[in-house]
Amino acid sequence: PKRRQMSVDDYVEGVRSSDRAILARAITLIESRNPAHRSQAQEVLNALLPFSGEARRIGITGVPGVGKSTFIEAFGKMLTGAGHKVAVLAVDPSSNRTGGSILGDKTRMQELGRDPDAYIRPSPSAGTLGGVARATRETMVICEAAGFDHVIVETVGVGQSETVVAEMVDFFLVLMLPGAGDELQGIKKGVLEIADMIAVNKADGEIKSRARRAAAEYRRALEIMTPASPNWRPPVSTCSALTRDGLADILAEITRHREILSGTGEFQKKRQEQQVRWMWAMVRERLMARFEEDEAVRRLVTQLEDEVAGAKLTASAAADRLLAAFGFERD
Ligand code: GDP
Repeated sequence: PKRRQMSVDDYVEGVRSSDRAILARAITLIESRNPAHRSQAQEVLNALLPFSGEARRIGITGVPGVGKSTFIEAFGKMLTGAGHKVAVLAVDPSSNRTGGSILGDKTRMQELGRDPDAYIRPSPSAGTLGGVARATRETMVICEAAGFDHVIVETVGVGQSETVVAEMVDFFLVLMLPGAGDELQGIKKGVLEIADMIAVNKADGEIKSRARRAAAEYRRALEIMTPASPNWRPPVSTCSALTRDGLADILAEITRHREILSGTGEFQKKRQEQQVRWMWAMVRERLMARFEEDEAVRRLVTQLEDEVAGAKLTASAAADRLLAAFGFERD
């Protein structure tokens, strides 16, 4: 019977032998918030962890319409054409509200979706952004253990999702629209700070020269910023996901980035630091969830928020009361 209970070994063997159906079920297990599933998922992850870590992890962001899915489809095909195996994951916190994912959707990348060397998984809708991030990071481990040597994590710049994705990848690529000046005004400065590379997409046809001007503008914007690594100044290029111009150059930059940062030890250090920060993020997430679900806290919270907003109570006094209700005492 197809839907029989699967053991940890079943999952591990299925994933290791790249069985797609089992891969999909393992990810569903990972995404589940049911406590029994969570403990089995942790066993599966522990068993698969030694087989992960070799892949290149690439994050891609950009506003809706910039061409992310067109780009990922073309880039993914380029990689599978070169003999690689590509997993495409998505972090889309908005999928919770809309009930449907706007990213990583199979209908958006049909050609790549049919490619036997590619696997596309839409964003989990695991509640909070922290929950989505947790599921995506663990899915990355599963995909790597299944033999995918490139993992692409797509996100749209909603809230903190860009930062969350940058924290789980080796290389963060920001796609931009052509149209300098005004574009630069509207762009969140934070995204330039976490970009390892900027590519102005749609550099084709009549807008090619506009794309070049936009790239020059972003280059100037980056020049006055201090790069995250003294050994990597994020390059700015133009590309066309439609004609596939410039895509090979982007791959070459990703390779160069890996080589340089591996040489200096920064690559290994970055991954280690990401793991440690991830641990703390999970601790915070779970503590906050417990706190927010606490009955005594919930009875007080609206009233205290009102009092703080109305300057009837100081924020610190209100925090003390909430924490006391939760069972915390001041030391
Ligand atoms: P997403 O919302 O970021 O995933 O963007 P899509 O990949 O869905 O692309 C939005 C629109 O831009 C679609 O109509 C694409 O055909 C078009 N598009 C994407 N990449 C390019 C490109 O490189 N050049 C041109 N001219 N159009 C593009």
